[in-house]
Amino acid sequence: MALLQVEGLKKVYADGTVGLSGIDFEVKAGEFIAVIGPSGAGKSTLLRCLNQMVEPTGGSIVFQGAQTIGSGRRKLRNIRREMSMIFQGFNLFERVSVLTNVLHGRLGYMSSWRGALGLFLKDDVAEARRLLERVGLREQMHKRADELSGGQQQRVGIARALAQKPKLILADEPIASLDPAASETVMSSLHRFCSEDGIACLCNLHQVDMAKKYASRIIGIHKGQKVFDGTPDELTDEM
Ligand code: ADP
Ligand code: ADP
Repeated sequence: MALLQVEGLKKVYADGTVGLSGIDFEVKAGEFIAVIGPSGAGKSTLLRCLNQMVEPTGGSIVFQGAQTIGSGRRKLRNIRREMSMIFQGFNLFERVSVLTNVLHGRLGYMSSWRGALGLFLKDDVAEARRLLERVGLREQMHKRADELSGGQQQRVGIARALAQKPKLILADEPIASLDPAASETVMSSLHRFCSEDGIACLCNLHQVDMAKKYASRIIGIHKGQKVFDGTPDELTDEM
């Protein structure tokens, strides 16, 4: 059984803009997929509909065998934990430490009474430290998030996503605001950890070269529709 089965997924925004006009695909456990397409194609809408940060207006999303559309708040919270998100703008808490940011991924500490009091469980802190060591940020753990470079901040984003122990990572243009060197570091980290932990990834990119380099499968989106779904070597420059 596929990890994720998407059928006829559709989003029409309140102003009538069509974000997605009915998309079908499946994701197998552990698959690393790049979603490519020009700006405005619907890539971001697609990822946000999958975890229902944006409410789909039609279609079906079956995740680990269960329909997720129409789920209540509690169920949605669990689904979002298993589909962790990485953002173009990092979305870190800038004024707190890197370690605290990763702990937030683990338990939603920042919004809990424990986070407010700065009371963390030893096991959670140990796990967050391990994750930060894994992404090469041992030295930066106690710095404020906004003291780090863009590439480092995105690696905190990866550690935070991993802390949720997800089955699927939704990465929305994770390297769009990074220079080429930091982009490579971030993509290779993301790719390596997904493969080591058996996590599937849908990664929005608009650099076709990066998609070809890191993904085993590429989905092309144009005007809210899927226009390509195949391996990197099937892809031409014509799309
Ligand atoms: P991409 O991520 O590929 O750049 P998006 O998913 O952001 O594309 O956008 C797809 C389409 O939906 C675009 O036409 C965009 O303008 C529109 N769109 C995105 N968000 C909204 C919104 N909140 N309200 C109305 N239209 C939106
Ligand atoms: P930036 O990513 O913004 O360039 P750095 O100055 O930390 O920030 O540069 C990244 C460097 O960190 C790379 O040269 C890379 O070799 C190193 N590094 C060590 N371990 C890792 C890791 N697990 N993931 C990513 N980069 C790592």
